[in-house]
Amino acid sequence: MQAVPFLFRSIVDLLIPYRCVKCGIILENEAGLCTSCWPLIPFITKPYCECCGLPFDFNIDEGALCALCSHSPPFFKTARSVFSYCEESKDLILKFKHTDTISSAPLFARWMVRLHEKGENLLCIPVPLHWTRLFMRTYNQAALLAKAMAKYGGWEYSSSYLIRKYRTLSQGNFSKNERIKNVKRAFEVPQKKKKQLLGRKVLLVDDVFTTGATLNACSKVLLKAGVLEVHALTLGRVVSSNQLPLHSVEKAAR
Ligand SMILES: [Zn+2]
Ligand SMILES: [Zn+2]
Repeated sequence: MQAVPFLFRSIVDLLIPYRCVKCGIILENEAGLCTSCWPLIPFITKPYCECCGLPFDFNIDEGALCALCSHSPPFFKTARSVFSYCEESKDLILKFKHTDTISSAPLFARWMVRLHEKGENLLCIPVPLHWTRLFMRTYNQAALLAKAMAKYGGWEYSSSYLIRKYRTLSQGNFSKNERIKNVKRAFEVPQKKKKQLLGRKVLLVDDVFTTGATLNACSKVLLKAGVLEVHALTLGRVVSSNQLPLHSVEKAAR
């Protein structure tokens, strides 16, 4: 009985072989990174801030917070990322975001699912794109990740609980404070969806944690709508040694 799927997989392998998501070399068994590229990706491991996931470059007790989270807690309860966003890792995300390499989504989602412990009643929500940007881009990379994560984690997925009201300017060249201002009122939970969010635990999914401003703005809106807690999960994370206070939106109402 195994022969048919095996044969089918073999034919698919011949037609569309598995490739390294970084250099594109053909891999034997499954999609992923080849042995040359794997050591180049700076996967984030402990120790890191218990709240925002900022990696510490020194040993510290489990549960420690970074200075920013101690001083001004963000609205999300935790944020975790698979790897640091740097020269070596950025092409993984840029290819996924801009060149329609969406076949990487299941692999990235499997990496991201491991960032959060198993739990019941979890709801995966992507950081939304404004509909005009979605129209031009044709897909929301955060939604692809969130959907695949929900599948692997056995969680619920929905892209309709959180919407982007305004088409915000691209965050690319903004400073941290400009980013906070830019996204401050951009998100909304539709009135008719609020009931379904009451008391839920949300996994908020995006491709990159840059300053945390977008994830924080989304988390604030979700908590206000009745969500119990928000855990942000991203593929990449910009790790800067001179981070400014990124949580300077009002303090968490929790
Ligand atoms: Zn490779
Ligand atoms: Zn922190």
